[in-house]
Amino acid sequence: MTEASGDEEDRCGWLLEAHDEDGPTTRECGAALHFTETGYHCDRGHSHTYAEVRHAQGWDYAHDEIEASRLGQAGVIGVRMDGHPF
Ligand SMILES: [Zn+2]
Repeated sequence: MTEASGDEEDRCGWLLEAHDEDGPTTRECGAALHFTETGYHCDRGHSHTYAEVRHAQGWDYAHDEIEASRLGQAGVIGVRMDGHPF
């Protein structure tokens, strides 16, 4: 492990549920990212696909089923933020 500075863009910013003395909170994943032609994923399995790739493939991220159904009416497949379809 090295404490290099200035490489925050290569760290996963996925918000994870956590707890501290004040109760529930969130913290960033912080795992190393691996970039591909279509997006990137981290060592803990979080993945992100670039918007242009999503649109080219006919799907997009949806935060809930309501948003997914709204996308569906527009002919777009709604996919959960974790990459799984609704
Ligand atoms: Zn991550």
